[in-house]
Amino acid sequence: MSLVLVIVLVAVVVVVAVVGLVMTIGLVSSRRGERGEALEPPISRRAGTATIDRPAPVADAATAPAEPLEAVDALTPPEVVEPLGVEAPAPATFRTRLAKARSAFADALGSIRSGSAITADTWDDLEDALIRADVGVRPTAALLDAVRITVKERGITTPDELIDAVKAEMVRGLIAPIDLRESAEAPTIWLFVGVNGVGKTTTIGKLGNRLAAEGRHVVMAAGDTFRAAAAEQLGTWAERCGATLIRGSEGGDPSAVIFDAVSHAAANGADVVLADTAGRLHTKSNLMDELAKVRRVADKGAGSVTEVLLVLDATTGQNGLVQAREFTEATEVTGVVLTKLDGSAKGGIVFAIQSELGIPVKLVGLGESAEDLIPFDAEQFVDALFAEQ
Ligand code: GDP
Repeated sequence: MSLVLVIVLVAVVVVVAVVGLVMTIGLVSSRRGERGEALEPPISRRAGTATIDRPAPVADAATAPAEPLEAVDALTPPEVVEPLGVEAPAPATFRTRLAKARSAFADALGSIRSGSAITADTWDDLEDALIRADVGVRPTAALLDAVRITVKERGITTPDELIDAVKAEMVRGLIAPIDLRESAEAPTIWLFVGVNGVGKTTTIGKLGNRLAAEGRHVVMAAGDTFRAAAAEQLGTWAERCGATLIRGSEGGDPSAVIFDAVSHAAANGADVVLADTAGRLHTKSNLMDELAKVRRVADKGAGSVTEVLLVLDATTGQNGLVQAREFTEATEVTGVVLTKLDGSAKGGIVFAIQSELGIPVKLVGLGESAEDLIPFDAEQFVDALFAEQ
Protein backbone atom coordinates (compact mmCIF):
# COMPACT_ATOMS: atom_id res chain seq x y z
CA MET A 1 0.00 0.00 0.00
CA SER A 2 2.73 2.44 1.05
CA LEU A 3 4.69 1.44 -2.08
CA VAL A 4 1.70 2.41 -4.22
CA LEU A 5 1.47 5.74 -2.35
CA VAL A 6 5.15 6.43 -3.00
CA ILE A 7 4.72 5.61 -6.70
CA VAL A 8 1.70 7.92 -6.96
CA LEU A 9 3.58 10.74 -5.20
CA VAL A 10 6.60 10.36 -7.49
CA ALA A 11 4.30 10.39 -10.54
CA VAL A 12 2.61 13.60 -9.31
CA VAL A 13 5.98 15.28 -8.74
CA VAL A 14 7.18 14.29 -12.23
CA VAL A 15 3.98 15.60 -13.89
CA VAL A 16 4.20 18.92 -11.99
CA ALA A 17 7.87 19.31 -12.95
CA VAL A 18 7.20 18.59 -16.65
CA VAL A 19 4.24 21.02 -16.76
CA GLY A 20 6.37 23.66 -15.01
CA LEU A 21 9.19 23.21 -17.50
CA VAL A 22 6.86 23.44 -20.51
CA MET A 23 5.30 26.66 -19.13
CA THR A 24 8.73 28.19 -18.51
CA ILE A 25 9.89 27.42 -22.07
CA GLY A 26 6.63 28.85 -23.45
CA LEU A 27 7.07 32.02 -21.40
CA VAL A 28 10.67 32.52 -22.51
CA SER A 29 9.87 31.98 -26.18
CA SER A 30 6.85 34.28 -26.05
CA ARG A 31 9.03 36.95 -24.42
CA ARG A 32 11.55 36.44 -27.23
CA GLY A 33 8.74 36.93 -29.74
CA GLU A 34 7.67 40.15 -28.04
CA ARG A 35 11.25 41.34 -27.97
CA GLY A 36 11.77 40.62 -31.64
CA GLU A 37 8.95 43.03 -32.47
CA ALA A 38 9.43 45.55 -29.70
CA LEU A 39 13.16 45.82 -30.33
CA GLU A 40 13.09 46.94 -33.93
CA PRO A 41 16.50 48.60 -33.71
CA PRO A 42 16.56 52.36 -33.31
CA ILE A 43 17.86 54.13 -36.40
CA SER A 44 21.24 54.89 -34.89
CA ARG A 45 21.91 51.23 -34.10
CA ARG A 46 21.37 49.98 -37.61
CA ALA A 47 24.76 49.81 -39.21
CA GLY A 48 25.38 52.49 -41.79
CA THR A 49 22.28 54.63 -41.24
CA ALA A 50 21.36 57.75 -39.34
CA THR A 51 22.34 58.94 -35.90
CA ILE A 52 19.12 60.09 -34.38
CA ASP A 53 16.88 57.96 -32.19
CA ARG A 54 13.44 59.28 -32.93
CA PRO A 55 11.43 59.25 -29.68
CA ALA A 56 8.61 56.68 -29.75
CA PRO A 57 5.26 58.30 -30.52
CA VAL A 58 3.25 58.96 -27.36
CA ALA A 59 0.59 56.38 -28.30
CA ASP A 60 3.26 53.67 -28.70
CA ALA A 61 4.81 54.52 -25.37
CA ALA A 62 1.46 54.26 -23.63
CA THR A 63 0.61 50.88 -25.11
CA ALA A 64 4.08 49.37 -24.87
CA PRO A 65 4.40 46.45 -22.45
CA ALA A 66 5.56 47.71 -19.08
CA GLU A 67 8.72 45.65 -19.12
CA PRO A 68 11.68 47.01 -17.17
CA LEU A 69 14.35 48.27 -19.56
CA GLU A 70 17.12 46.32 -17.79
CA ALA A 71 15.23 43.07 -18.23
CA VAL A 72 14.90 43.66 -21.96
CA ASP A 73 18.54 44.62 -22.33
CA ALA A 74 19.74 41.67 -20.28
CA LEU A 75 17.82 39.28 -22.49
CA THR A 76 18.84 40.89 -25.75
CA PRO A 77 21.48 39.02 -27.71
CA PRO A 78 23.54 41.56 -29.70
CA GLU A 79 22.63 39.81 -33.00
CA VAL A 80 19.07 41.04 -32.63
CA VAL A 81 20.18 44.68 -32.67
CA GLU A 82 23.00 44.61 -35.23
CA PRO A 83 22.21 42.75 -38.45
CA LEU A 84 24.44 39.70 -38.75
CA GLY A 85 27.59 40.14 -40.78
CA VAL A 86 27.46 43.95 -40.68
CA GLU A 87 30.20 45.61 -38.69
CA ALA A 88 29.71 49.05 -37.20
CA PRO A 89 31.71 51.43 -39.41
CA ALA A 90 34.77 53.13 -37.93
CA PRO A 91 34.00 56.74 -36.95
CA ALA A 92 34.55 59.11 -39.84
CA THR A 93 37.84 60.89 -39.26
CA PHE A 94 40.40 62.09 -41.77
CA ARG A 95 42.77 59.40 -40.51
CA THR A 96 40.29 56.56 -41.00
CA ARG A 97 38.80 57.65 -44.30
CA LEU A 98 41.65 59.17 -46.27
CA ALA A 99 43.45 55.87 -46.89
CA LYS A 100 43.18 56.09 -50.66
CA ALA A 101 44.26 59.71 -50.88
CA ARG A 102 47.19 58.90 -48.60
CA SER A 103 48.30 55.88 -50.60
CA ALA A 104 48.56 58.01 -53.75
CA PHE A 105 50.95 60.25 -51.85
CA ALA A 106 52.81 57.65 -49.82
CA ASP A 107 55.20 56.27 -52.48
CA ALA A 108 56.58 59.67 -53.38
CA LEU A 109 56.90 60.68 -49.74
CA GLY A 110 58.61 57.40 -48.95
CA SER A 111 61.30 57.97 -51.55
CA ILE A 112 61.81 61.58 -50.39
CA ARG A 113 62.10 60.48 -46.76
CA SER A 114 64.59 57.74 -47.59
CA GLY A 115 67.08 60.26 -49.01
CA SER A 116 69.87 61.47 -46.73
CA ALA A 117 69.88 65.07 -47.92
CA ILE A 118 67.74 67.60 -49.76
CA THR A 119 68.78 67.59 -53.41
CA ALA A 120 67.33 68.97 -56.63
CA ASP A 121 65.66 65.56 -57.07
CA THR A 122 63.99 65.92 -53.69
CA TRP A 123 62.34 69.16 -54.81
CA ASP A 124 61.31 67.58 -58.13
CA ASP A 125 59.81 64.56 -56.37
CA LEU A 126 57.96 66.84 -53.99
CA GLU A 127 56.55 68.93 -56.83
CA ASP A 128 55.44 65.79 -58.71
CA ALA A 129 53.80 64.34 -55.63
CA LEU A 130 51.82 67.52 -54.90
CA ILE A 131 50.64 67.92 -58.49
CA ARG A 132 49.64 64.27 -58.67
CA ALA A 133 47.71 64.73 -55.41
CA ASP A 134 45.53 67.35 -57.16
CA VAL A 135 47.06 70.38 -55.46
CA GLY A 136 47.34 71.98 -58.91
CA VAL A 137 50.32 73.44 -60.74
CA ARG A 138 50.04 77.04 -59.59
CA PRO A 139 49.27 76.33 -55.92
CA THR A 140 52.13 73.78 -55.85
CA ALA A 141 54.59 76.35 -57.19
CA ALA A 142 53.44 78.96 -54.66
CA LEU A 143 53.60 76.43 -51.83
CA LEU A 144 57.12 75.30 -52.68
CA ASP A 145 58.34 78.89 -53.05
CA ALA A 146 57.20 79.57 -49.51
CA VAL A 147 58.80 76.34 -48.28
CA ARG A 148 62.12 77.24 -49.94
CA ILE A 149 62.19 80.44 -47.89
CA THR A 150 61.49 78.50 -44.68
CA VAL A 151 64.20 75.96 -45.50
CA LYS A 152 66.72 78.76 -45.97
CA GLU A 153 65.67 80.74 -42.90
CA ARG A 154 65.70 77.71 -40.58
CA GLY A 155 68.72 76.00 -42.08
CA ILE A 156 66.71 72.84 -42.77
CA THR A 157 68.87 70.02 -44.15
CA THR A 158 66.98 66.75 -43.82
CA PRO A 159 64.07 65.43 -45.93
CA ASP A 160 61.97 64.80 -42.79
CA GLU A 161 62.30 68.44 -41.74
CA LEU A 162 61.49 69.48 -45.29
CA ILE A 163 58.27 67.45 -45.23
CA ASP A 164 57.35 69.00 -41.88
CA ALA A 165 57.86 72.43 -43.43
CA VAL A 166 55.57 71.51 -46.35
CA LYS A 167 52.91 70.30 -43.93
CA ALA A 168 53.11 73.49 -41.88
CA GLU A 169 52.84 75.63 -45.02
CA MET A 170 49.82 73.64 -46.19
CA VAL A 171 48.05 74.03 -42.85
CA ARG A 172 48.79 77.75 -42.91
CA GLY A 173 47.16 78.00 -46.35
CA LEU A 174 44.12 76.03 -45.29
CA ILE A 175 43.21 77.66 -42.01
CA ALA A 176 40.06 79.71 -42.45
CA PRO A 177 36.81 80.34 -40.57
CA ILE A 178 34.62 77.29 -41.14
CA ASP A 179 31.63 78.09 -38.94
CA LEU A 180 28.30 78.17 -40.73
CA ARG A 181 26.92 81.61 -39.98
CA GLU A 182 23.44 82.21 -38.58
CA SER A 183 21.11 85.08 -39.37
CA ALA A 184 20.10 87.52 -36.65
CA GLU A 185 16.42 86.93 -37.38
CA ALA A 186 15.11 83.33 -37.75
CA PRO A 187 15.13 81.38 -39.90
CA THR A 188 18.72 80.99 -41.01
CA ILE A 189 18.75 79.91 -44.66
CA TRP A 190 21.56 77.85 -46.14
CA LEU A 191 21.47 77.20 -49.88
CA PHE A 192 23.25 74.22 -51.41
CA VAL A 193 24.39 74.56 -55.00
CA GLY A 194 26.39 72.30 -57.32
CA VAL A 195 26.01 70.08 -60.37
CA ASN A 196 24.02 66.84 -60.31
CA GLY A 197 25.49 63.88 -58.49
CA VAL A 198 28.04 65.74 -56.35
CA GLY A 199 26.15 64.96 -53.13
CA LYS A 200 23.95 68.03 -52.43
CA THR A 201 20.90 66.09 -51.30
CA THR A 202 22.95 63.70 -49.20
CA THR A 203 24.81 66.59 -47.59
CA ILE A 204 21.53 68.33 -46.66
CA GLY A 205 20.28 65.06 -45.18
CA LYS A 206 23.43 64.53 -43.13
CA LEU A 207 23.55 68.13 -41.92
CA GLY A 208 19.83 68.06 -41.07
CA ASN A 209 20.47 64.99 -38.96
CA ARG A 210 23.31 66.64 -37.13
CA LEU A 211 21.31 69.82 -36.47
CA ALA A 212 18.25 67.89 -35.33
CA ALA A 213 20.45 65.92 -32.92
CA GLU A 214 21.53 69.26 -31.47
CA GLY A 215 17.87 70.10 -30.90
CA ARG A 216 17.44 72.45 -33.85
CA HIS A 217 14.13 72.69 -35.69
CA VAL A 218 15.00 72.05 -39.33
CA VAL A 219 13.02 72.60 -42.54
CA MET A 220 14.32 71.08 -45.77
CA ALA A 221 13.35 72.61 -49.11
CA ALA A 222 13.31 70.30 -52.13
CA GLY A 223 14.40 73.01 -54.55
CA ASP A 224 15.57 70.52 -57.18
CA THR A 225 12.11 70.30 -58.74
CA PHE A 226 13.53 68.85 -61.95
CA ARG A 227 14.40 65.54 -60.33
CA ALA A 228 11.58 63.77 -58.48
CA ALA A 229 14.12 61.36 -57.00
CA ALA A 230 15.88 64.25 -55.24
CA ALA A 231 12.68 65.20 -53.38
CA GLU A 232 12.02 61.55 -52.48
CA GLN A 233 15.58 61.16 -51.19
CA LEU A 234 15.30 64.34 -49.15
CA GLY A 235 11.95 63.12 -47.79
CA THR A 236 13.62 59.98 -46.45
CA TRP A 237 16.30 62.01 -44.69
CA ALA A 238 13.70 64.45 -43.32
CA GLU A 239 11.58 61.63 -41.94
CA ARG A 240 14.59 60.03 -40.33
CA CYS A 241 15.51 63.13 -38.34
CA GLY A 242 12.08 64.63 -37.79
CA ALA A 243 12.63 67.60 -40.12
CA THR A 244 9.83 69.09 -42.22
CA LEU A 245 10.12 68.71 -45.99
CA ILE A 246 8.62 71.31 -48.30
CA ARG A 247 8.39 70.18 -51.90
CA GLY A 248 6.63 71.51 -54.99
CA SER A 249 5.22 70.01 -58.15
CA GLU A 250 7.65 68.33 -60.53
CA GLY A 251 9.20 70.85 -62.89
CA GLY A 252 7.77 73.71 -60.79
CA ASP A 253 9.53 76.91 -59.83
CA PRO A 254 12.41 76.12 -57.40
CA SER A 255 12.36 79.68 -56.03
CA ALA A 256 8.70 79.26 -55.05
CA VAL A 257 9.48 76.04 -53.16
CA ILE A 258 12.28 77.70 -51.24
CA PHE A 259 10.13 80.76 -50.52
CA ASP A 260 7.37 78.46 -49.18
CA ALA A 261 9.90 76.61 -47.03
CA VAL A 262 11.13 79.89 -45.52
CA SER A 263 7.54 81.04 -44.85
CA HIS A 264 6.73 77.69 -43.27
CA ALA A 265 9.84 77.86 -41.10
CA ALA A 266 9.00 81.39 -39.96
CA ALA A 267 5.37 80.50 -39.19
CA ASN A 268 6.36 77.40 -37.22
CA GLY A 269 9.32 78.72 -35.30
CA ALA A 270 11.88 76.63 -37.17
CA ASP A 271 15.40 77.96 -36.98
CA VAL A 272 17.16 76.56 -40.05
CA VAL A 273 16.12 76.07 -43.66
CA LEU A 274 18.36 73.79 -45.71
CA ALA A 275 17.55 74.41 -49.36
CA ASP A 276 18.45 72.04 -52.17
CA THR A 277 18.72 73.49 -55.69
CA ALA A 278 18.76 72.03 -59.19
CA GLY A 279 22.10 70.85 -60.54
CA ARG A 280 21.16 70.99 -64.17
CA LEU A 281 18.79 72.90 -66.42
CA HIS A 282 18.49 73.05 -70.19
CA THR A 283 21.52 75.25 -70.52
CA LYS A 284 24.27 76.34 -68.21
CA SER A 285 23.19 79.98 -68.38
CA ASN A 286 19.65 78.93 -67.41
CA LEU A 287 21.04 77.21 -64.36
CA MET A 288 23.12 80.17 -63.29
CA ASP A 289 20.18 82.59 -63.84
CA GLU A 290 17.97 80.28 -61.82
CA LEU A 291 20.45 80.21 -58.95
CA ALA A 292 20.71 83.98 -58.88
CA LYS A 293 16.90 84.14 -58.73
CA VAL A 294 16.71 81.49 -55.98
CA ARG A 295 19.10 83.54 -53.90
CA ARG A 296 17.10 86.76 -54.38
CA VAL A 297 13.77 85.11 -53.60
CA ALA A 298 15.12 83.20 -50.59
CA ASP A 299 16.21 86.51 -49.10
CA LYS A 300 12.81 88.17 -49.62
CA GLY A 301 10.91 86.59 -46.73
CA ALA A 302 11.76 86.22 -43.05
CA GLY A 303 15.33 85.47 -42.00
CA SER A 304 18.19 85.63 -44.47
CA VAL A 305 20.58 83.55 -46.52
CA THR A 306 23.83 83.43 -44.58
CA GLU A 307 25.57 80.61 -46.44
CA VAL A 308 25.64 79.56 -50.08
CA LEU A 309 27.49 76.28 -49.94
CA LEU A 310 28.96 74.92 -53.15
CA VAL A 311 29.01 71.14 -53.05
CA LEU A 312 31.92 69.63 -54.99
CA ASP A 313 32.78 65.98 -55.59
CA ALA A 314 36.42 65.56 -54.60
CA THR A 315 36.88 62.64 -56.99
CA THR A 316 36.45 64.95 -59.98
CA GLY A 317 39.78 66.53 -59.08
CA GLN A 318 40.73 69.72 -60.87
CA ASN A 319 37.40 69.70 -62.72
CA GLY A 320 35.86 70.73 -59.43
CA LEU A 321 37.76 74.00 -59.73
CA VAL A 322 36.19 74.72 -63.11
CA GLN A 323 32.72 74.11 -61.65
CA ALA A 324 33.52 76.27 -58.67
CA ARG A 325 34.48 79.19 -60.93
CA GLU A 326 31.18 78.96 -62.83
CA PHE A 327 29.11 78.90 -59.67
CA THR A 328 30.96 81.79 -58.09
CA GLU A 329 30.08 83.87 -61.14
CA ALA A 330 26.35 83.17 -60.66
CA THR A 331 26.08 83.58 -56.94
CA GLU A 332 28.22 84.57 -54.01
CA VAL A 333 29.56 81.26 -52.72
CA THR A 334 30.49 81.44 -49.04
CA GLY A 335 31.92 77.98 -48.53
CA VAL A 336 32.59 74.61 -50.09
CA VAL A 337 31.35 71.20 -49.01
CA LEU A 338 33.81 68.68 -50.41
CA THR A 339 32.16 65.26 -50.70
CA LYS A 340 33.50 61.77 -51.40
CA LEU A 341 36.94 62.41 -49.92
CA ASP A 342 36.70 58.80 -48.76
CA GLY A 343 36.67 57.57 -52.34
CA SER A 344 39.36 57.74 -54.96
CA ALA A 345 39.88 61.47 -54.41
CA LYS A 346 43.47 62.51 -54.06
CA GLY A 347 42.87 65.16 -51.43
CA GLY A 348 45.03 68.00 -52.72
CA ILE A 349 41.93 69.55 -54.29
CA VAL A 350 41.13 71.00 -50.85
CA PHE A 351 44.28 73.08 -51.09
CA ALA A 352 43.63 74.03 -54.72
CA ILE A 353 40.12 75.33 -53.94
CA GLN A 354 41.28 77.44 -51.07
CA SER A 355 44.34 78.90 -52.72
CA GLU A 356 42.87 79.44 -56.20
CA LEU A 357 39.42 80.70 -55.21
CA GLY A 358 39.87 81.89 -51.64
CA ILE A 359 36.73 79.99 -50.63
CA PRO A 360 37.07 77.98 -47.44
CA VAL A 361 36.18 74.29 -47.39
CA LYS A 362 33.76 74.21 -44.45
CA LEU A 363 32.42 70.67 -44.45
CA VAL A 364 33.75 67.40 -45.74
CA GLY A 365 31.92 64.23 -46.75
CA LEU A 366 33.79 61.09 -45.78
CA GLY A 367 31.13 58.50 -46.59
CA GLU A 368 27.44 57.99 -47.22
CA SER A 369 26.07 57.71 -43.67
CA ALA A 370 24.65 60.49 -41.56
CA GLU A 371 27.70 60.71 -39.32
CA ASP A 372 30.10 60.94 -42.27
CA LEU A 373 29.82 64.71 -42.71
CA ILE A 374 32.37 66.49 -40.55
CA PRO A 375 33.69 70.03 -40.22
CA PHE A 376 36.92 70.61 -42.09
CA ASP A 377 40.01 70.63 -39.88
CA ALA A 378 43.18 71.80 -41.63
CA GLU A 379 45.65 70.22 -39.23
CA GLN A 380 43.94 66.82 -39.07
CA PHE A 381 43.49 66.80 -42.82
CA VAL A 382 47.16 67.51 -43.57
CA ASP A 383 48.28 65.04 -40.91
CA ALA A 384 46.11 62.32 -42.43
CA LEU A 385 47.33 63.06 -45.94
CA PHE A 386 51.00 62.87 -44.94
CA ALA A 387 50.69 60.02 -42.43
CA GLU A 388 52.97 57.07 -43.04
CA GLN A 389 51.04 53.94 -44.09
P1 GDP B 1 23.04 65.44 -55.78
O1 GDP B 1 22.60 65.09 -57.17
O2 GDP B 1 24.09 66.50 -55.80
O3 GDP B 1 21.93 65.77 -54.86
O4 GDP B 1 23.80 64.13 -55.21
P2 GDP B 1 23.28 63.04 -54.21
O5 GDP B 1 23.13 63.61 -52.84
O6 GDP B 1 22.10 62.35 -54.78
O7 GDP B 1 24.56 62.06 -54.14
C1 GDP B 1 25.01 61.32 -55.25
C2 GDP B 1 25.69 60.05 -54.73
O8 GDP B 1 26.86 60.39 -54.01
C3 GDP B 1 24.83 59.24 -53.78
O9 GDP B 1 25.00 57.88 -54.07
C4 GDP B 1 25.42 59.54 -52.41
O10 GDP B 1 25.24 58.51 -51.49
C5 GDP B 1 26.88 59.72 -52.75
N1 GDP B 1 27.61 60.54 -51.78
C6 GDP B 1 27.30 61.77 -51.34
N2 GDP B 1 28.25 62.22 -50.46
C7 GDP B 1 29.17 61.22 -50.35
C8 GDP B 1 30.41 61.08 -49.61
O11 GDP B 1 30.87 61.96 -48.86
N3 GDP B 1 31.09 59.91 -49.76
C9 GDP B 1 30.63 58.91 -50.59
N4 GDP B 1 31.37 57.81 -50.69
N5 GDP B 1 29.50 59.02 -51.30
C10 GDP B 1 28.77 60.15 -51.19
